[in-house]
Formats: sequence, C-alpha cells, structure tokens
Amino acid sequence: MSVFDELVGQERAVETLRHTVSTPGAMTHAWLVTGPPGSGRSVAARAFAAALQCETPGDPGCGTCQACRTAMAGSHPDVTVVATSETFIKVAQARELAVLAQTRPSVGRWRVIVVEDADRLNEPAADALLKSLEEPPPRTVWVLCAPAQDDLIITVRSRCRHLRLGTPAVDAVADLLVRRDGIDPAMAHFAARAAQSHIGIAKRLATDEHARARRREIISLPLTLTGLGAALRAAQDLVDEAGAGAESVSSDRAAEERRALLEQLGADPSARTQPPAVRAHLRDLEARQKREAKRQQHDSIDAALTDLASMYRDALMVATGSPVDLVNATEPDQVERLARAFSPEGLLGALETIGLARQRLVANGAPLLVLEAMMIGLILPTGPASGPAGRPRPRTVARG
Ligand SMILES: [Zn+2]
Repeated sequence: MSVFDELVGQERAVETLRHTVSTPGAMTHAWLVTGPPGSGRSVAARAFAAALQCETPGDPGCGTCQACRTAMAGSHPDVTVVATSETFIKVAQARELAVLAQTRPSVGRWRVIVVEDADRLNEPAADALLKSLEEPPPRTVWVLCAPAQDDLIITVRSRCRHLRLGTPAVDAVADLLVRRDGIDPAMAHFAARAAQSHIGIAKRLATDEHARARRREIISLPLTLTGLGAALRAAQDLVDEAGAGAESVSSDRAAEERRALLEQLGADPSARTQPPAVRAHLRDLEARQKREAKRQQHDSIDAALTDLASMYRDALMVATGSPVDLVNATEPDQVERLARAFSPEGLLGALETIGLARQRLVANGAPLLVLEAMMIGLILPTGPASGPAGRPRPRTVARG
C-alpha cells in the first residue's frame, strides 16, 4: 500500500515525487502541479505531502503510518490545504499563508502548504506569495495546483518546479474503481469512459443510479432541442436540477456545521436568540455555506455541460469518420442521429457554443441566462444539415 496508489496513470509524476522524497538534497521547495480536471492534482499534492511527513523509514508514503493517514485526510498539523469556494483567493489569505510558510513545522519534518486552486490567486494575492515561493525557509514546501501553467502569472510559475499530470487512460481509471471501490468491471469501464477519465465523476456514475439517470437525460438533450420553447425549458431544467442537488447535499451538512460551531463557542444550540458575538460567527458561517452551495451548483452545471459536449464530440467523430473510441459508445443511435442532424461545421459550432457558456459561468455569469443563450445556440437545424442556430451551411461557389 502507498499514498500514491490512487494516482492512476501518472507513473512519471509519481516517480518524480518518490525520487524527491527519498533522495537527500533533491528537494524543491515550490511545486506547480498541473493537469486536467479529475486527473488527480489534489491527490498528487496530498500524497506528496504525506510522503514528506511519513514516519516509516525506507518506505516514504507507506500509507499506513499516522503521518500518512492524517496528511491524506487533511488533518496533519503541518500540512495546510487551501481549497477555496471563492472566485478568487484574496490577498489577505495569501498574506496569512506567507506568514505560515515562515513558521517551522510543529510535529512533522516539513511545513507543507497546498493551494488547490492556485489559478484563483488574483494578482495582488500572487504577489504576496512571491517572496516566500522564491526563498522559503528550509523546512517549507509549497505545492500549487492549477489546470495549466498558463493559469498562473509568469512570476509565480517561474519560481515553481512543474509537475504535469496527464489524462489517465480509461482502463487505468476503470481498474482503480475495481480495485479501490470494489465496482464490477463492466460498470467501472462504462463509468470511466462516460466520465472521460475524470476519476471523481467516474466513481459517482458507477455508484449512483441517480447520477447515471441524470447523465442519460443530459446526453439525450441535443435531439430534443427542436425550437425556442424546448431550449428555454432545457436551460431552466438544468439550473433547477443543479440547484436541487446542491441544496440536498448541503442542507444536512449546514445544520451539522451550525451545531458544531455553537458547541465550539459554548453557546446553547436550542436558544431562540444568540448573543451578538455568536450571531456574528453564525452570519460568517451562513455566508460561507451560501458560497459553497453556489460553487456546488456551478460544478454540477459544468459537469452536465461536459456530458453534453461529449455527444457533439462523438457525433463529430462519426460524421468525419475518425477512428476513435466514442465517449457515448452505449448510445450509438443517438450519436448517429445527431451526426446526421448537423453538418460537421455545425457540430464544431455547437462545441464552441458550449465552451463559451462554460467560460461565461466561470466568469460568474448568471447561470440561467448563460444556459438559455447556449441552448438557443444548440437548436437543431431545420432544413438540410446546417449550423447550430439554423444558419445555412456555407455554399461553395463554383468558379471558372
Ligand atoms: Zn507513512
């Protein structure tokens, strides 16, 4: 067993991290881990942190000692993991991290600071980290995670050693689901492919019937977008479903967090009114919970758009005769019909339309408006194959 077990299909990255941990003098104090969503950036960062703190001589990252387990679980006192639900990591938080970076580890060998969404560091926040990234104290290690190098300003990324994760192979993800979660091989394979190797989504698809049903609804959407009414309904449904999901996940946890906070403050949870100091804490908590629910709604919509895009991508592969595996290999009829409904240019246009909607959502666009515009852009062409919004296909003019 090893803390690196869950980092599937990333052999080179694992080798680099293992080598760094086990070779005296090989340490780099600032790392940037990049890779597509679901490739395991935060797993890599935590595994690295665990291996650095591991107490088993000769087998760093043993996965069983106290240090490994607490580091992986996020409760090791010298491993700080920053995961934000905000659009940006603010300068005040970055300054706090820079101060923390200057302190010596309390029980472990290293002070490890993992910033999971380093692409959300705005410029002043990134500036606040520069000095510490360049000259950290000898026992401090920074691990920044981001989708790509370009997501960070150059002054930050030039101070980091780059560790790149790729998209793991479908088989490797399926194998992990079988090995780690005891999932039936056929189901694991379907889920890994449908999730396009996103490990977290694959696991949910494999274990949650509702998630599978939801995905079937999403991928059958393209052929139902026959007009304006259908497009607007589809947008509303998507927003409602994402909101309902976020609420049901968070309402239990919200109540539990409230209870824990009151207990921590020594307040009576059953009191009808709380003293002002307690009320201030409760307001902070509620504001954070609201932001988290919003982030969850965003993630849920984004996952749906990934599924939706996979249909147009598959249809494009079929339309152009590309010999690649289909993401939606279990739905050949729908893929075929979609490939016939649009021209290849129209399918490309549809993919661009979805990509644009995702960008707008990241930029904090109002979900319903963004999705309405997107669905309208995806309305099926009426006549012969044409563009996604019913634009006529460009004609080739014969010359001569
Ligand atoms: Zn260990």
